[in-house]
Amino acid sequence: MTGGGSGIGRAIAERLRADGHRVAVLDLNPPDDGLSHKADVTSREQVDEALARVRADLGPVTILVNAAGLDGFKRFTELSFDAWQRVIDVNLNGVFHCVQAVLPDMLEAGWGRIVNISSSSAHSGQQYMAHYVSAKSAVNGLTKALALELGPAGVTVNAVPPGFIDTPMLRKAEERGLLGGTIEDHIRRTPVRRVGTPEDLAATCSFLISEEAGYITGQIVGVNGGRNT
Ligand code: NAP
Repeated sequence: MTGGGSGIGRAIAERLRADGHRVAVLDLNPPDDGLSHKADVTSREQVDEALARVRADLGPVTILVNAAGLDGFKRFTELSFDAWQRVIDVNLNGVFHCVQAVLPDMLEAGWGRIVNISSSSAHSGQQYMAHYVSAKSAVNGLTKALALELGPAGVTVNAVPPGFIDTPMLRKAEERGLLGGTIEDHIRRTPVRRVGTPEDLAATCSFLISEEAGYITGQIVGVNGGRNT
C-alpha cells in the first residue's frame, strides 16, 4: 500500500496486518518494519524498484491500497502551474503508476483488490483546492473506468473518499485557519456529531479487500459521517 507512514494510511496498514495480511508500505517516510520502502509515488522508477523488493520479500502483490496524498490550499488566481502539477502528480499520477505496476501480478493470479483513497471534496467541491479536488475527482473516475476493464479479470476497484478525518493533514489545515472554522465547529455540522477516525477508513478498506466484497466494484464508498450523501 502507499501512504502508510501517517494518518489514514498508517491505520489501514495496521488494520490489514491485524486481519492477517502481509503489508508493505511505500511512502516518503515509511515505517521501519523491514517490509516497507521509501518511494515517491510520482516516480515510476522508484515505485518499480520498491515493488521489486516487495515481491522479493512477499511474492506477488494482489491487494493495493493507494492512500498517499498531498493537499494544497491556494486561491485559483494565485495557483501556480507547478503547484497544480505536483498535487495532480501525487494524487492522480501516483495512482496510475502504482496500479499499472502491480497489475501484472493480479492478472496472473486472476484475482485482485484495489482501493483508492480519494476525497469527499470530489463530491462537494472545496474552495482554494482546485488542484486537489480535480485530482481526487479524477481518481474516482479512474476507479470506475478500471472497474469495468478489470472486472472480467477478477480484480475489483473501488474508491473510498474520506471526509473530515482526524489526521495530521486535517490538524495542519485547522492550524492554518483553512477549514472555515475549527474542528469543533465542523463536528456540530456533521450528522453523526464527531470527527472521523483513520480507523473508520481502515475498517472500510478491510471489508473492500475481503473475499466477501467480490461483488462490489466501481463504487465510491463515502466515509464522512453523513456530511456528503
Ligand atoms: P497524511 O497524514 O498527510 O498522510 C499522507 C501520507 O502520504 C504521508 O505519509 C505522506 O508522506 C505520504 N505521501 C505524500 N506524498 C507522497 C509521495 N509523493 N509519495 C509517497 N508518499 C507520499 O494524510 P491523511 O489525512 O492520512 O490522508 C490520507 C489520504 O486520505 C490522502 O490521499 C488524502 O488526500 C486523503 N484524504 C484525507 C482526508 C482527511 O480528512 N484527513 C480527507 C479527504 C481525503 P509524508 O508525511 O512524508 O509527506
